[in-house]
Amino acid sequence: MQHPHSQPDQVEQVKLTLLKRVAWYCLSLHALLVILFFALSIPILGLLNVLSVLTWALGIYLLNIQHRSLALRLFSAEVAIHAIIVCAILGMQLGFQYYLWTVSCLLLLDNNLKLKPAVGVSVIMITLFAAMHIWFADVTYKYAYRDWLQYVHFANVLICGIPMIFTIALIRDVTMAQRQTLTKLAARDPLTQMYNRRYAQELITHAKYHCDENHEELCIIMADIDHFKQINDDYGHAQGDEILKRVALVIASHTRPVDICARWGGEEFLIVMPNTAQVDALARVDKLRYAITHEIFEHFDSTVTMSFGLTMWPTKVGFYEAFQQADNALYTSKENGRNQVTTASTLYAVPNIR
Ligand code: GH3
Ligand code: MG
Ligand code: MG
Repeated sequence: MQHPHSQPDQVEQVKLTLLKRVAWYCLSLHALLVILFFALSIPILGLLNVLSVLTWALGIYLLNIQHRSLALRLFSAEVAIHAIIVCAILGMQLGFQYYLWTVSCLLLLDNNLKLKPAVGVSVIMITLFAAMHIWFADVTYKYAYRDWLQYVHFANVLICGIPMIFTIALIRDVTMAQRQTLTKLAARDPLTQMYNRRYAQELITHAKYHCDENHEELCIIMADIDHFKQINDDYGHAQGDEILKRVALVIASHTRPVDICARWGGEEFLIVMPNTAQVDALARVDKLRYAITHEIFEHFDSTVTMSFGLTMWPTKVGFYEAFQQADNALYTSKENGRNQVTTASTLYAVPNIR
């Protein structure tokens, strides 16, 4: 099983990989722009892009020496300053202002930057974006290749938009994976991977409602490992844990996917079989009991046995009452010598048994 602490580290690793990829992508883009602006005879922008290439190279170096936060701030400053200078010189028609959107998105990824400052800087970026449309409204492009403006604009929209889409998609993917892990952690007992008591109770409530609606029978079984304290005393707690894990597997392999199996307490398990008549439940549970006595446990030279108490859960009877009947039946199995199944109906049919 994955250690829960590995989750945040994994997220950080994914972010770092993504950031490095974006950094290389930006460095290459600025290198291309150096060539382009010298070819267009706009040396000032050619030089600006040389500075940008150096800044991105420095940022990648910072990423490699684990200064991620500093690198991220350097990247953001570079993109914002670069976009503003380019728009001031070439005008807004080329779409370099959209880079401010991408920067605001990247800044929010920085965990070392507290959420409020990150949001604050992002809002400043978007405000700058809006302001640039006012400041540089009159700046027109007066260089060569004027017909190409619309294509540069087109390319810039894609270049700015695609990283944002990938970033959000990646965050969604990681969030979903984490949510699944958390749901699993909240629902399962860590040792046996069976449902824990709290989660099983929710499932049981739903199953009961569904069975009542469809006039189906529902059976509750309490199961308890015999003389488990002695097993722990003789073989040690770790060996006891191994037995619990294996017993859980045997229970899982002798029940249907619709049955709800839970670790109810230490060495006690609860099984709820929806849409099952008593005779069928009894047959299944006895097969399970038999399977456990025949299971071979490593480093353990004795057999493990389990006692069971079974009851049908009548409509209008609350869970606790039905559960109590199953538990009483289990108690009778223990009293009668263990390694057996007792049904509550036989229990209550025979007066003075308990
Ligand atoms: P009985 O046949 O009457 O059920 O006897 P028992 O010894 O199984 O019952 P008892 O309730 O006296 O002891 C249960 C033991 O289960 C005591 C406790 O230390 C052990 N136990 C509870 N949880 C765990 C666990 O997670 N791991 C291990 N190894 N032992 C556990
Ligand atoms: Mg026991
Ligand atoms: Mg017990």
